[in-house]
Amino acid sequence: MTQAVRTTCPYCGVGCGVLAQPDGRLVGDPAHPANKGRLCVKGAALGETLEDAGRLLHPMVDGARASWDAALDRIAGRFAETIAQHGPDAVAFYVSGQCLTEDYYVANKLMKGFIGSGNIDTNSRLCMASSVAGHTRAFGADVVPGVYEDLEEADLVVLVGSNLAWCHPVLHGRLQAARAARGTKLVVIDPRGTATSSGADLHLALSPGSDVALFAGLLAHCAGIGRLDRDWIAAHGSGFEAALAAARQVAPTLERVAALTGLDPEAIARFYAMFATTERTVTVYSQGVNQSAAGTDKVNAILNCHLATGRIGRPGMGPFSITGQPNAMGGREVGGLANQLAAHMRFDMPGAPDRVRRFWRAPNLAERPGLKAVDLFDAVLDGRVKALWVMATNPADSLPRAGRVREALAACDFLVVSDCWETDTTRYADVVLPAAGWGEKSGTVTNSERRISRQRPFRAAPGEAKPDWWALAEVGRRMGWAEAFAWESPAAVFREHAALSAFENGGTRAFDIGAMATLSDEGYDALAPFRWPLRAGATEEGDRLFAEGGFPTPDGRARFVATPFRGLAAAPGGGFPLLLNTGRLRDQWHTMTRTGQVPRLSDHAPTPAAAFAPADAAALGAVEGGLVRLATPHGEAVLRVALDPGQRPGEVFVPMHWTDAFTSSGPVDLLVGAATDPVSGQPELKATPLRAEAL
Ligand code: SF4
Repeated sequence: MTQAVRTTCPYCGVGCGVLAQPDGRLVGDPAHPANKGRLCVKGAALGETLEDAGRLLHPMVDGARASWDAALDRIAGRFAETIAQHGPDAVAFYVSGQCLTEDYYVANKLMKGFIGSGNIDTNSRLCMASSVAGHTRAFGADVVPGVYEDLEEADLVVLVGSNLAWCHPVLHGRLQAARAARGTKLVVIDPRGTATSSGADLHLALSPGSDVALFAGLLAHCAGIGRLDRDWIAAHGSGFEAALAAARQVAPTLERVAALTGLDPEAIARFYAMFATTERTVTVYSQGVNQSAAGTDKVNAILNCHLATGRIGRPGMGPFSITGQPNAMGGREVGGLANQLAAHMRFDMPGAPDRVRRFWRAPNLAERPGLKAVDLFDAVLDGRVKALWVMATNPADSLPRAGRVREALAACDFLVVSDCWETDTTRYADVVLPAAGWGEKSGTVTNSERRISRQRPFRAAPGEAKPDWWALAEVGRRMGWAEAFAWESPAAVFREHAALSAFENGGTRAFDIGAMATLSDEGYDALAPFRWPLRAGATEEGDRLFAEGGFPTPDGRARFVATPFRGLAAAPGGGFPLLLNTGRLRDQWHTMTRTGQVPRLSDHAPTPAAAFAPADAAALGAVEGGLVRLATPHGEAVLRVALDPGQRPGEVFVPMHWTDAFTSSGPVDLLVGAATDPVSGQPELKATPLRAEAL
């Protein structure tokens, strides 16, 4: 490599630009709009994760080394046999927000257009599905209306269910710089005291699952003091009165909100006054909102407040979903969730299935949504799904009720796993495919502000590792669809994706990157980060959306959504008096396949620990560093105790990262229940009833 290569960090949804230097150093890209040269601790350690040691180097079939031809023939043959004997819904893909958009596009086209099933879901189901559903209900499409600059132009930022300082550090740094420069107020709404809440002007440690009550109360408050933007509602909204009536029913008084949330009424009143009186307000929300059995209602309760006050899509104003993974947004754009079709078209949109069928010349277009992640693995266990391809994710550790997922993987008639490393999932596979990893493959990702950036290769893939889009296309060709899967480069896949986004769009669908449909290979190589939409003929990247309405709904209006209060799917009790919360640490990523290789990233938290409120630990007779046995209806683990004054009494926090490879207690998801949101299918990963016993 003689010149620096511009690429994008493979971790969180901030989507920071990285410069791979000819001397081997990796530094922040000063030209990338997301990070302007900054990297967090994880991003700065990326160069230490590029060892070939431990990588999967060759395809394996039935535990023995095989050629790519033999492995791909086996996959295509078994998929075809399974479809012939049991129908297309007996085959499924479970993919990942780590996949590049081109990988996702090919997987979605193969499953929904040619195999003929909706059974492609993704670990983004665990990450952002509630935001997707909430956006779609309110806006008519899965659209984040704001841009990162809004966090710097706001006078008040409200963070809901987000430990931004640890989970999106560079964006947190941008916010902190803005606070220093302009005195931005910060409200953090999170049951836990965190590195983020410690610097806030107000921390509301609400009881888990009570966000709908807090935001219903806020909507009722804004209506009560005349803070609504009635003109904006009349011009651009629908369903407002019903949503307000529902909010008033949930939260008729401040005292009622206090009773439901466990918060001090004065603190609630202070938050409501700050929101109502600060015009430039951004509400940022993340997994504490999404990973909930009421996640979609939580999202809509937040969106209602911004829509009702006309504060959306204007500088420093709007709701803002922050994505967990590097390409959760790109996957959503291609339709990589089981309930989506393609390019922001859904199965239930008039004309959409026919449009996609014609564009793809698809012989077997799926007729209905497929199984969402939790249901998908239940279907593998009970034999409805007989052939499964898992790509760039590790469900044996990362899905709730992981013990049951492992049973499903073991019972699966035919399991293919594509990954860079051996994981707790690859050990169940009939076929393992070595995947090209970050720095080795080429494609695009989309960050939390709709910005599409290139990931570019700067090193050779080890052994015979290949990009996922290529393996998927090879299987498509071997199943008899040579013309539809004939791409020779990711650039060609991207052009087709862009063309589909614009196909018979007529300006009525929000996601449109038609300007990229004629991009040359050279243009793709040189592609600078840009925000969508970017319709054919457009020269300016997409900006803030919806300030003047124009929602992609049939009548062009935003829909207010009535959000009843439902609380937790399973409350503490019946021998499980505590609540288990799970989440990220600052310096680790997912199941540590990459960050676990860097010893210094473990300095921050060398071993998994269960964080207890000191009073809870004292009541158990547990001490800092002592051992505690945790049990839920789904599993048990023995962990060290960490005393954390930031923990709400009655709640225990355990990080999500450790796996069988790193600890004898196994992943925390062995303990987590599988209650899901009825609209989004996203699991309640932050509130499982728990019992603890000091050892
Ligand atoms: Fe990577 Fe996120 Fe850190 Fe940026 S903030 S360097 S995208 S992990």
